[in-house]
Amino acid sequence: MSSFTPAQMVYEKKRKTLAVDFDNTLAHVVHFPDKSSCTWMNRIVHWYVRRKKGQGWTIILNTLREPHKGLSFALDFCKEYDIPIDYVNENIPEEIALWGDSRKISAKRSIDDTNIGLIGFLLRRFG
Ligand SMILES: [Mg+2]
Repeated sequence: MSSFTPAQMVYEKKRKTLAVDFDNTLAHVVHFPDKSSCTWMNRIVHWYVRRKKGQGWTIILNTLREPHKGLSFALDFCKEYDIPIDYVNENIPEEIALWGDSRKISAKRSIDDTNIGLIGFLLRRFG
């Protein structure tokens, strides 16, 4: 028995949000916060993010970086590498309307070098 409302259940099935980390996920940190490079593993993540965007997904950059703490570097990097970002460190309005806002970023899928599993391992090892 679910305690979700019908609107929440319908939304949950169709939602297409991808949260993606920056440091050591989209970019390989060389010197924080202003020097990063790109490994083949980072490029695979770029490809995946672009693919999801092309399928109509909303991309949320989920990063510890903030204004005056390296965020502009990350946004410039995303622009340079053609990585589509719709929101930065915030939930999308549809999610907030249904669930209320939260400090945790809500997403259907997420990519982060801290993930358990193969992608997280590959990002830690090669990203
Ligand atoms: Mg990271």
